[in-house]
Amino acid sequence: MKTDRLYYTDPYLREFDATLLETVSHEGRTALVLDRTAFYPTSGGQPYDVGFFHDVRVVDVVDEDDGRVLHIVDRAPSTTTLHGVIDWTRRFDHMQQHTGQHILSAAFDRALGARTESFHLGVESSTIDLNRELTEAEIARAEDEANRIVWEDREVRIRFVDSAEAASLGLRKESKREGALRLIDVDGFDLSACGGTHVARTGAIGIIAVAGAERFRGGSRVTFLCGGRALAGYRALRDVVDRSGRTLSVGAAELPPAIERLQTEGKDLRKQIKDFQARLASQEADALADAAATVDSVRLVVAALPGWDANGLKTIAARIVERPGYAAVLVGGPSPAPIVVARAQDVALDSGALLRTLVERHGGKGGGRPEFAQGGGITEPSGDVLQSARTFIAELLKS
Ligand SMILES: [Zn+2]
Repeated sequence: MKTDRLYYTDPYLREFDATLLETVSHEGRTALVLDRTAFYPTSGGQPYDVGFFHDVRVVDVVDEDDGRVLHIVDRAPSTTTLHGVIDWTRRFDHMQQHTGQHILSAAFDRALGARTESFHLGVESSTIDLNRELTEAEIARAEDEANRIVWEDREVRIRFVDSAEAASLGLRKESKREGALRLIDVDGFDLSACGGTHVARTGAIGIIAVAGAERFRGGSRVTFLCGGRALAGYRALRDVVDRSGRTLSVGAAELPPAIERLQTEGKDLRKQIKDFQARLASQEADALADAAATVDSVRLVVAALPGWDANGLKTIAARIVERPGYAAVLVGGPSPAPIVVARAQDVALDSGALLRTLVERHGGKGGGRPEFAQGGGITEPSGDVLQSARTFIAELLKS
């Protein structure tokens, strides 16, 4: 037996009495079938209602193909005579979003010839997918037109017609349904076949605000908020803007240029730091080179530089071995530390071989060419690694 859907004719009905016809199992959950209901089951893009039968909680409502409405409940009721109460805050929100969608879709259709392919009423926002791409200006035009209809507070009527009559009325979207059709008639603006719940006058929507748009499957996906959700969205934006403004000590309108100034300053500072690092690396390199020890006519720099990263070490080593007769082994920091080995063109030392020997003995990894090698992952005290380096270099230069 089909369930009599009270919301078809009275979407403002919040409480009702009904008789329990059967209790069934639906996907492992308890489901009630009643002779009549005001609970809306998920369909046509609109989510289900929740609520109570006395102290039995309705957690989901499902539309069956055979015309029954299944009320998924947290437990079976103790009587067959039930009094249902719908969570009206949730339902009215759905009515605002859903009626807003009819008007926004009609505005896109009438003003721009953009047709709605699908509609989704989400938990936080809703979307309509339109069959072509739209510019910001076009979206604003449809948004203006939709709000004009809201503020004119037009009547939203429910009409029942047969399919032949529906065809002669010119619906926004042709319906494939046979038999009796339920039409939602936004006075003088839109006529659509729909089984959902809608407000009685457009003024109850309050406002329709487009929150964003993106390209989607060759068309556009427009996200929008109606009524209470538009207010909540405005508050959220206002809070973000207020917090950002306080952080930067500017008003809302000055936020974009203030952020641009910060970005430019950050970029300039990073460049300055880079320049300072390069100059500091040169000075460090010169000081090390001037103090170098001489081993078999090679001027040798073996040093721990805990304040320098791999890039800094490379810059310093490169500067040292610009001088003929020089070789350098540098360990940076912090642990695990980078290591660099380099030598001038005229020094007969294989930097790659030396580095591999050092990491084999002390841990870490790396490699390179005879004139330059680098590695990392040195966890042993740099003093031990550098002592090994001195010993190996002395042996290599003697042989
Ligand atoms: Zn509808």
